[in-house]
Amino acid sequence: MLSNKLVFYCYQCKKISHNLSEFLFVEEDSNKSFCSDKCIEGFFSPLVDYYDSEEKKFRSELDLHEKHLVDFLSDDEKIDELLTTPDEIWCQENEFQDKLYTLIKRFKIDHDKSFSLIVLSFMYADKPSFILFMTATEDERVLEKFKVGTKTEMSISKSSSSSSVLEIDAETLTLLESKKSSYLAEMLDKRSPADIPFESFHLYEEYLDPTMQNPDEIFKLKDDEGDEIFTYIKAQVKDTISFYYLVVCYSLKQGPSKDKETLIPILSFPTLDGELYSNYKLGELIQGVVKN
Ligand SMILES: [Zn+2]
Repeated sequence: MLSNKLVFYCYQCKKISHNLSEFLFVEEDSNKSFCSDKCIEGFFSPLVDYYDSEEKKFRSELDLHEKHLVDFLSDDEKIDELLTTPDEIWCQENEFQDKLYTLIKRFKIDHDKSFSLIVLSFMYADKPSFILFMTATEDERVLEKFKVGTKTEMSISKSSSSSSVLEIDAETLTLLESKKSSYLAEMLDKRSPADIPFESFHLYEEYLDPTMQNPDEIFKLKDDEGDEIFTYIKAQVKDTISFYYLVVCYSLKQGPSKDKETLIPILSFPTLDGELYSNYKLGELIQGVVKN
């Protein structure tokens, strides 16, 4: 029953695999993994519909439809320019706690006329990864609607490698697997027989994402092997019973100067046991308050 292998799954179709390199990511610092572009589209389609209907709403309020600009929404050359060299980038945490970016670029039509192309997109590795929405406008009021959140000075990465594939070498995968098995063994060893049984852990998987997105506490420590480990903890309730959900993550550093950090969950579990929970409050508290 207990496997030493890492388990990853697609957030849309729930396909499980031990091979992280089969998965795609569209957001930085997110553990939402997908098996295919189709599953990415399926997962985010409610958000795509939401922004479409928001646009319809405000355009009809302004009575401003700009049908003459519609062709620009399929102008690949201009879209490419917008995605690689935007004039402005804004970042907001949207209603779903995802970091969503607005990219804006102004284009001249003739000497005294211009319009702006606007996209809402997730970013991965400093590049637009999944576009939720796009529009074109000549109207400042429409433009202002998209300047939400914080204007950022980030620049778009020029690297041509596929932006959304997290590549992990075999050596790191072996390390992750061995870490996973030792962390799992340690946790099961300390686990009380009265706690939620290991066999039921899969019923709690839905708490992983909310714990990562909106934790009560985050602890950071260096483990015995000198690796940086982050522990995300959130108090949760299922069927009126309160429990803690914990996610222990390995901090994978990539890039030429090791400045690209991806958190990879190596252990996640629910617990009813305050003592077990306390065992994981180790290292430096980097988010949250010390609880009584
Ligand atoms: Zn899938």
